Parts: sequence; C-alpha cells; structure tokens
Amino acid sequence: MNAVDTEKTYTLQDLETTEFDGTPLAVIGHPVQHSVSPAMHNAALSKLAGIESRFKDWAYYRFDIAPEDFARALPLFHKRSFLGLNLTIPHKVQAMDLIKGVSPDAECMGAVNTLVWDELGYDGFNTDGYGLSRGLEVDLGVSLKDANVILLGSGGAARAAAVQCVLADCARLDVGNRTPERLKDLMAVLDGMPGGDRVQTFALSELPKDLPDNGVVVNATSLGLNAGDPAPIDVAQLPDGWKVYDMIYNPSATALLQQADARGLPIANGLSMLIHQGARSLEIWSHAKVDAHAMMTAACHALKLPPRYD
Ligand code: NAP
Repeated sequence: MNAVDTEKTYTLQDLETTEFDGTPLAVIGHPVQHSVSPAMHNAALSKLAGIESRFKDWAYYRFDIAPEDFARALPLFHKRSFLGLNLTIPHKVQAMDLIKGVSPDAECMGAVNTLVWDELGYDGFNTDGYGLSRGLEVDLGVSLKDANVILLGSGGAARAAAVQCVLADCARLDVGNRTPERLKDLMAVLDGMPGGDRVQTFALSELPKDLPDNGVVVNATSLGLNAGDPAPIDVAQLPDGWKVYDMIYNPSATALLQQADARGLPIANGLSMLIHQGARSLEIWSHAKVDAHAMMTAACHALKLPPRYD
C-alpha cells in the first residue's frame, strides 16, 4: 500500500496538481477534517494487502471540497482514476444528479454515500442503511426483519434508516420528527414503497400509546451531538422490552443512551453503523471480504475511544 498520511486533508488544488499512484480511494466532505474514514479504510486495506498482493497499492485519502466546487471536482476524481469515493456532508444529495447510475435503494434514500468508478462515470450506492442494520445486529442482536422500530428524525440519515426498515420488512415503523413538514416529506417517500403502509407518525413529545412489548428506538436526529443536549424523547414512556440505538457516536453516550441505560434498557451508539457502512463500501470496491474489526480498532484509536471487539 502507498504510504498515506491519514491526518492530511487534500484540496481541489491537490487534485488538479498531484498524481495519485496505484488505486486511490477517498472520502469527500466539507468539513471533513473530523472524518475517521481514512484511518478505518487504510487499516482494512493493510489487512487486505497482507492477504492479496493486488491491494498493495490501494490507498484511501481525505478531500475537503466545498459544495460549489463539487461538480468540477467529480470529473477530476474520475480522470485521476479514483476507483471509489465516499461522500459525506454536504455532497450525498447533490451527487445524485452528477453520476452515471444510482442503485434502486439509494434512489429511495435520495442520497448516495459510495461511488464506484466505471469508464463512463461513477455509479452510486448508499451503504448507510446497511450499516445501521448490521450495527443493530452486532450490538443489540436486533434484526430489522419483523422488528418494531421507533425512528427519531427525518433528515438524510433517518431517510436511509426508514427505507432500510421498510425494505427489510420490519413489522412496524413509527417515525417522529420535530418539524412536521420534513416528516411529511419522508412519509411521502415511504408511502410509495411496498410495505410503506406499516409506517406511522408521532410527535416527539409523546410516544405512541399502543407500543408493542419489544422493539428498538433508533435516534437519527442530531440532538445529542452537543454537550447538554436533552434526549429527543421521554425514555420513561418506553416499555421494558425495548432497546435503544443512537446513530451519534461522538459523544459516545448521549442523554438518550444515558437515560435508557439508567432504566436498564440495552443501548448502543452509532460507531457500529459507521464501521459497517464503511466496510460495505470497501467490499463494493474490492469484491473482497473486509475486516470490520480492524476498521473498528482504527476508528476507536482515531476517536481516542477505548478499543472494542479486541
Ligand atoms: P440532517 O439531515 O441535518 O437531519 C437532522 C435531524 O435532526 C432532523 O430530523 C432534525 O429535525 C433533527 N434535529 C436537529 N436538531 C434537533 C433538535 N434540537 N430537536 C429535535 N430534533 C432535531 O442530519 P443527518 O445527516 O440526517 O444526521 C443525523 C444524525 O445522525 C447526526 O447526529 C449524524 O452525526 C448521525 N449520523 C450517524 C451516522 C453513523 O454512521 N453513525 C451516519 C449518518 C448520520 P428537523 O427536521 O426538525 O430539523
């Protein structure tokens, strides 16, 4: 593998002036400095290179590209033969109009986070829903199939989660959001899907009265990112058999998770979602089995969190 500085953040100018040897991959965002994707992916690439020599020259970079430069940057990444790109805030939606093809689930999710090079352009996928579903399985032993899910939020991450829940045949999905208009937009997407009739809405201030005995709450709001943020729902209203997953992983225990934990409900944060969406992207690019544990260890190290899974 190329020697890659996982701390370095490249720019559009670097892309214009630098040759990226071997098989380059990258995450593109704005801001992107905080992204642990280079650490995660380069750790997994190191493992792959130890098994198969074709991965020895693969390397994963980080690029800060402003939204107004994205349309100009994408053809340059293509010309420089970047085999795979991960897109993060704010490029996931804009990219839909600039790429050659979009997978059917990403089309429903309205966003792409994984691009794959093809001679004629990039093809787009969305691995966030998959990452969530694996995260729930690994951390909480929850399979989305036949699950009762309460989803908090109606932004990009909530849309990917909701589509994944419906595609996975969840038993019931209740979605709540602060802003009713945004919730209505999400419902319009789900209504058009087979199984969309299992979805109901509620106001965050009061959980649905008729909740089944067990299920999983998934927080896809950004409430909890800042110190002092309250929990988006009143955890006391959950039946005893529920589990709670927060997509937020930094801080590692939001007020929602702390309150659920204090009630004795099983909890997990979004680190596993981050790892598994990344592992899936790398599998799409490499067609190889990816070591998610190596990615987790590297992410924990980069985030200065205690190591997990080892
Ligand atoms: P987004 O599109 O900006 O959506 C933000 C959501 O949070 C909206 O539903 C918004 O509600 C809600 N919200 C914001 N402030 C709120 C408040 N004070 N009270 C109640 N609701 C509030 O963001 P996103 O991309 O969907 O990301 C959402 C969260 O998921 C972020 O914390 C992000 O870090 C996390 N995430 C994690 C992963 C992972 O791999 N673990 C992946 C993707 C995202 P309104 O509609 O009312 O504004």
